[in-house]
This record gives sequence, C-alpha cells and structure tokens, in this order.
Amino acid sequence: MTSIDEKLEPVLAEVLSRNAGEPEFHQAVREVIESLGRVIAKHPHYADDALIERICEPERQIIFRVPWVDDKGKTQVNRGFRVQFNSALGPYKGGLRFHPSVNLSIVKFLGFEQIFKNALTGMPIGGGKGGSDFDPHDRSEGEIMRFCQSFMTELFVHLGDKTDVPAGDIGVGGREIGFMFGQYKRLTNRFEAGVLTGKGMLYGGSRARTEATGYGNTYFVQSMLNTKDSSFDGKKVVVSGSGNVAIYSMEKVQSFGGKVVACSDSGGYIVDEGGIDLDLVKEIKLNRRGRISEYVRLKGKCTHHIENGRIWDVPCDVAMPSATQNELTGRDAKALIKNGVTAVGEGANMPSTPDAVRAFQEAGILFAPGKAANAGGVATSALEMQQNASRDSWTFERTEQRLAEIMRNIHDLCANTAEEYGVPGDYVLGANIAGFIRVAEAMRAQGVI
Ligand code: GLU
Repeated sequence: MTSIDEKLEPVLAEVLSRNAGEPEFHQAVREVIESLGRVIAKHPHYADDALIERICEPERQIIFRVPWVDDKGKTQVNRGFRVQFNSALGPYKGGLRFHPSVNLSIVKFLGFEQIFKNALTGMPIGGGKGGSDFDPHDRSEGEIMRFCQSFMTELFVHLGDKTDVPAGDIGVGGREIGFMFGQYKRLTNRFEAGVLTGKGMLYGGSRARTEATGYGNTYFVQSMLNTKDSSFDGKKVVVSGSGNVAIYSMEKVQSFGGKVVACSDSGGYIVDEGGIDLDLVKEIKLNRRGRISEYVRLKGKCTHHIENGRIWDVPCDVAMPSATQNELTGRDAKALIKNGVTAVGEGANMPSTPDAVRAFQEAGILFAPGKAANAGGVATSALEMQQNASRDSWTFERTEQRLAEIMRNIHDLCANTAEEYGVPGDYVLGANIAGFIRVAEAMRAQGVI
C-alpha cells in the first residue's frame, strides 16, 4: 500500500482538518499527496514555500442561491457552486454538474482533479469546477431553462473567456449550455463565444467535443494495451453508464474491433452478449431521455436487464467505468480480476475507490486514472476555445486527430514519468507527478500566488 511521506503527513492532516466533512475531497487530495513523496525525495524544493498547501487551497470558492419557479408556479431553491481552484496555467476551466448529490466536497474533489488533468493536456487551462444540487430528472424543458437562467444570472460576473470557462458534466449537456450561453449574452451584451464550451455547432461549438471524453479514454486504453503488444481487437468490454462518456467510449471501442457487452444507468445494467446495439442505446438515452431497461424490451432475445446489480460482475477483458465517483469498489475490482480483466480506463472522475485502485495495481492490471484517461473532453474544450479565439471552425477529422495526438502525449507523459520515478506502469503516480510538476513550476515562476 502506498503511504504518505512523513514530511507530507502534516500537509495532509492540515487539509483534512481545514476541510472537515468533505470525504470526496479528502480522497482526491490523499491520492495526489501519496504520489508526491517520490517528488520531494528527488526534488526537496517542492516541499518549500507551502507549494502543496497552496495547491490544495482553492483560489476562490463561490456558493450562491439559485431560486426558480417550477411548472406548478411553486418557488424552488437550489444551491449553486463554482470553485476556481487554480489559474497558474490559464483561465479556470472545468465543467458544471447538476445532480442532487452535488455539494462542496464533490465540487472540490472534481476541481482539484481538474487542475492536474488540465495540466496533463498541455493546453493553457487552469482548473475549476461547479454545479448545483438541482435534479434535472423529470423536469420539463421550461423548468430546466429557467433553472439555467437563474444559475447564470448569479454566476456570470465570475466568468469570462480569460477568467473562467465552464462546460458540461453530469446533468449538463448541449441543451443546458445553450440556455446558459443565451443568458450570459443577455446579461453582458457580449457574444463571447469562448466563455462556455460544449456549445452547439451553430454558435461556436467544436466538432468532436461531444465524442471527445469517450473517444479519448478509448485512445488512452489503446495506448496502454499497445505497450503489451495488445489491442481492443476481439476484446470483451464492459462500460458502465450510458451518458455522453459511455456512449462515445462504446462507439470508439466498437470501431477498434472490441465487443461491448454491458452498460448501465442508475436503475441497473443491461447485458447483450451479442454486442450492445449502440444505435438503440443512443435512441433511448439521447433522443427519448429514457431508462436503459427499455433496451431489453425493444431488443428482446438474448439480452437482460439486472436491477440494482453490480455491472462489474459481468466478465470482461477491459472495464471502462464511465458513470460517477466511487462506482467501482474493492469488491468489484476483485470480481473483475477473478474474471480475467486486463485493463481498466476511467471515463468518469474518480470512479474507482482507493481499495479498487490498489487491487488493480497489485494484480498488475493496466490501470488508467480518470485525470489522465478522461482528459480528452476538456482538451477538446481547449480546442473549442482556440477555434473561438481565431473565429474558426475545424473539421471533425482535424479535431479528432488533435485529440488522438493529445491522448497519446498524455499516455506517454504518464508512462515516462512513472518510469523516471521508479514505478514503471504506475499511471496513477505518473499522472499525479507530471500534472503536479507543471502546475508547481508555473506557480513558482509567478511568485507567491
Ligand atoms: N466535465 C468534464 C471533465 O470532467 C469536461 C470539462 C470541460 O470541458 O471543461 O473534465
């Protein structure tokens, strides 16, 4: 088990006590600090000037009331968040999540991971994250629009294409970004395309942004498999979730010759040993906004839906957790290992618990942490910002080619860093150290910030 370097123990203790009651944030910080022992052993100056302490403290945290009126005329109140974590490398950048589980701990863990993820992309973007405990489930389009407008009415003063650039995450897709962009434009009287990413193609969006996170994770896993002279060809794959990340992971896996046999939503998972029919999943999830259980009703024979089961009990060669944080436990990891899994790529943010990560690493499984493997989404957001700044619009092929190149670079950076620090094949360590060094160097160069 990785432990904390004794010089860093007080740093972690301080973060834990200063941010009491924020378990997800603690988990994310602990993992990074565990990796940094090797950095300060090699380069002791990184322990100076409270650099790690500063990185663990957000530059700014905004919490606000979001009042709105539902379709019955009743006034509702939600809580909005934006944590502007680190701007050493560029404007704050990261998504907005609308889900009832959103609280300060969730937003801070996501924002903290975003700092390192964004650094790994090599693009000029800092780290931030936001969202609300608003539950979009079963809300009408009118209610969603009014919520988004109210959310932006409070947040807009803190945003700007050179300041803070939100995007989507769970519960926030193209529709919500459109409503927020429209409200930002009314409030500021500026068509500032680069203030949000994940926009529609008609008003400054980037081709391949929708596909980018899932495609990127698949590219990353492909690079890992290649290091073992292997590929997706003929592999059985399980992808949890059925949102944007899961759908486009499945699409890319299938184009690489892999067979996806299971996917899920919060109501359960489906298994189709013949290979998931992706057009049907897209119809159910993207067009009808329905439940994944409908797949079995529509597809019929040889498929089944398991309510409240564990998708990780389905035997596979490659697992791609693409739903949400802590969805894959130590017990699930053991089941996957027993069934012969060889590679895991995290499409979601922090989907594997620390126990699960440890189990994969001890079993010698190729394991790609989310902050490296799912960086394709935010990297393509940076490409969207680039297109907006130059008032240009690239082809799908050009954008995807850049994405593929960025993912290859992230893979190689993580692999080479792990090797340099004496733990070849440890992508967690490689990602944490490589991301940290970029941010730390930029901060040192900018004085005590
Ligand atoms: N929410 C995504 C992530 O976790 C994308 C963020 C963005 O495009 O800014 O990285």
